[in-house]
Amino acid sequence: MLRCRVRIVVVSDIHSNLGALGAVTRHAEAGGAVDAVWCTGDIVGYGAQPREVIAELRARDALAVAGNHDLAACGRLGVEDFNDIAADAAIWTAGQLTADDVAYLRDLPLTVMSGDVTLVHGSLRAPEWEYLLSPEQAIAHFALQTTPYSIVGHSHQQFWADEMAFHAAPDGGMLQLGERRIIINSGSVGQPRDSDPRAGYVLYDDSAATITWHRVEYDIAATQRVMRDAGVNDWLSDRLAIGR
Ligand code: ZN
Repeated sequence: MLRCRVRIVVVSDIHSNLGALGAVTRHAEAGGAVDAVWCTGDIVGYGAQPREVIAELRARDALAVAGNHDLAACGRLGVEDFNDIAADAAIWTAGQLTADDVAYLRDLPLTVMSGDVTLVHGSLRAPEWEYLLSPEQAIAHFALQTTPYSIVGHSHQQFWADEMAFHAAPDGGMLQLGERRIIINSGSVGQPRDSDPRAGYVLYDDSAATITWHRVEYDIAATQRVMRDAGVNDWLSDRLAIGR
């Protein structure tokens, strides 16, 4: 039986950067219709447009899980464990949100499954906090992974891992999914930290069973202006230009 092509845009760590999110969705749509948007958390925090980013995800009926910054912004998590800049950003973000935005963030699950894939922000053993970056952490995560594949965020790094090793995921790199159990990180849309300032995301082609990593240029200066005008800490806007 013929199966329709299903193209899913997977975004993570948008961090209230609407310009970067718009560039990612336009880039994906230039290659064909986008059937779904999935988000592995940190929708808000750091950037200046939390309301607009939430509205965009809701308009696209995105399947999303909560990240630590989302939990802090809606009061599900205290800011004691955040550094000063992140705590200030969470408090500022909370002050920007409508009651409806807060309800949206409060209702986000920590993990969600769709077909062969589980979405979680950090890791399955510590969804809010764990930076899944080592083989030992991957083993603990795989022990809890009940779907063939999982997609994580949080570290703002693009990679994939199987039960043997971690693998770099360059711009344009494609992974054919198969029998192996896999962890995927789509990277960060709104605050990349791998010295490449371009927005990162992955395209999941459900019918071809492929994952493709992408980097997309966006108007960083425009995002920085919006942040400065909103009174966001300069360090947070400056870092966008260097991808750190
Ligand atoms: Zn993040």
